[in-house]
This record gives sequence, C-alpha cells and structure tokens, in this order.
Amino acid sequence: MSKFLSKKLINLEAYVPGEQPKDRKYIKLNTNESPYLPAPKVMEVVNRQAVEKLHLYSDPDAKILVDELAKFYNVQSDQVFVGNGSDEVLAFCFMAFFDDERKACFPDITYGFYKVFSKSFGIDAVQVPLKDDFTIDVDNYVNCGRNIIIANPNAPTGLSLTHEQIELILKTNTDRVVIIDEAYVDFGSESCISLLDKYPNLIVVQTFSKSRNLAGARLGFAIASKEIINDLNKIKFSFSPYNINGLSLVAGVESVKDKDYFEECNKKTIATRERTSDELKKLGFHVISSKTNFVFVTHNLISGEEFHKALREKGVLTRYYKEPKIDNYVRITIGTDEEMDEVIRITDEILSEYLPMCVGK
Ligand SMILES: *Cc1c(COP(=O)(O)O)cnc(C)c1O
Repeated sequence: MSKFLSKKLINLEAYVPGEQPKDRKYIKLNTNESPYLPAPKVMEVVNRQAVEKLHLYSDPDAKILVDELAKFYNVQSDQVFVGNGSDEVLAFCFMAFFDDERKACFPDITYGFYKVFSKSFGIDAVQVPLKDDFTIDVDNYVNCGRNIIIANPNAPTGLSLTHEQIELILKTNTDRVVIIDEAYVDFGSESCISLLDKYPNLIVVQTFSKSRNLAGARLGFAIASKEIINDLNKIKFSFSPYNINGLSLVAGVESVKDKDYFEECNKKTIATRERTSDELKKLGFHVISSKTNFVFVTHNLISGEEFHKALREKGVLTRYYKEPKIDNYVRITIGTDEEMDEVIRITDEILSEYLPMCVGK
C-alpha cells in the first residue's frame, strides 16, 4: 500500500477472481464460462474492417447493441443499458442508487462482488443468512427498507426463487430498488423482465459471459424503467462514456441475433448438467439441484477443500470457497460432455484413492 491511498479504501478487500491458468492445460471449470465458442457470425464481424475502426472512439450510446437487446427482450430501447460486463453495470447501480440512506441488503452466501461493491462505495450492507437448505428466506426481505440485490438463480448454490417470491419482495419495497442479477437465468429459470411493467423499482441485470459465450468480450446489461436507465446513463457519461469497445459491440450484436445458436448451446449445457449431477450422485455426492451452468456439490467422506485440491492435481480447476457454511462444497462449472466424462472418471479415481485412507484413519 502506498502512503497515497485514500483513507476510505484502506480496508477494501478486493474481489478474488477464479484463476485463469497460464502454466499447464487444465479442464477449466472454475469461473462458469461457456465451453462453447461464440456464435459463428461473431468471428465474421470481428474482422479487419472492425479493427480498422478502432482508431475512432466506439459509440457511447452503444446503439446497435441496445437496439438488438431491446428487440430480443421485447422492451423499448430506452429501457436497456449496456456495460463492460455486468460487474460494471452493478457498479453503476451502486453509484446511482445507493447512499447513506439507501443502504444495501443481500444474502450472506451469494456473488462475492456485492460485498466488495458495498465496501468500494462505502455503503452499509446487511447480509441476510440463507436457510439451512441454502434457499433464500424471502420473509427477511419483506419491507426491508434497503436496496436489495438478489442473484436469481443464486451463486454458488444454483437455487432460484419463484416469481411469486420475487414479487413479494418488489411489492413490499416500492421505495427501494430491487436488483435481480440474472447471470444464470438462461439455464432453466424464468427472467423477471416480464415483471418490469408492474414494478418500477425492478432492475434486471444479465451478462454475455455465461449463456452467450462471450466472457472475454466483457458485456453485460440492465433492463429497467426508462427513468432508471436514464440515471444509469447519467452516471456512465460522468465516468466512462466509451465503456463498450468497438469489437465487443459488433460481437455482442451477432451473439444476440443468433437465437438458435444461443438456445442450442444452453440446451446442451442443461443436458450435460443433469447427466453430470446424476453421475456425481451415483458416486455419493450431495448435488444441489441446479438451475445454472454449474453444480455445487459435497461428499460425506472427502472434504470440499481436499476434493478441490485433488481435482486440481489431476488437471481439473474448480472453485472452492473457504467460508462458513459452504466450506465443504465445491462448485464445478458444466463444460462439454467430454470434459464432464473426464471429471467423473477423475472423481471416481480420487474417491478410490482417498476412501481407503479414510477407513484407515
Ligand atoms: C459471472 C457473474 C457476474 C459477472 O459477469 P460479468 O458480466 O462477466 O461481469 C455477475 N453476477 C453473477 C451472479 C455472476 O455469476
């Protein structure tokens, strides 16, 4: 730390991203990326011509992408805001809607960035405990008096709330924003975009990083009332007007246009997830029923930490959180069928090497 760092930031604990390995080749199942390539047309539009245009600034309104998303989700263009990843969209939400009076509230086990943002922006945050079965206790959010952020489905549990439950939260917090982070919604749950007409306090946030195979392009978006989108644009134009680069802009448009490819990839991921869950259960794992592109698993006979480490030694990267309540779980991203077959084979191997040692203990 330099002596120049702002006093406000001395206690900041930065987000720790999953590893992007550079040394050896791993089966990389630690950051919930898609194993599938971007839509075919993306390769065509990120061409020499697009690169040549980089000598100019990108469109600060990101109009082609905003319009394409509006068409896809059947909303007005002035209800769409795009960001450099949904992380940036969430950061803009914090800047726009949170302050000393409008504090934050989110589950204790959820996407780690909510806590980091609260600290970065000096916002008081209440972290509401999940129930023992890892579900969100909706009653805790009724009339909560704070801005609410819920990942639906939640990460790293993979569990989702029903619209009825979310509506109860929206209805009882009309003076506060309710941000529903739908990073994983395309893997089998229902988006809250359809609720926007009824609830002016709702902000739906989604990303291109998981279900649209473009994690490296850094694209995310919010859909909300046009007043809310206007506020977000005000912040953006006061902070980083050219937040979307020209190459990602054209890549994003093609990925939204190719609905068939999008649906085909997600269908494959869902099928692979279900099969992987069954196989892991056969090996004695408790697998939380997932609506995402990952599974969150635990085993009676091997600790989460040891399982994570053993997988790594055998070339499989997964995510492990050394945190109360979930420190016996490992989060495994769903890769291709071939990758998951290999993971199952390796897991079987780990258990057969490990269990005799257990019995001996
Ligand atoms: C991955 C993820 C994000 C971040 O996505 P980016 O668009 O890559 O910044 C946000 N929220 C949740 C819950 C996520 O899992």
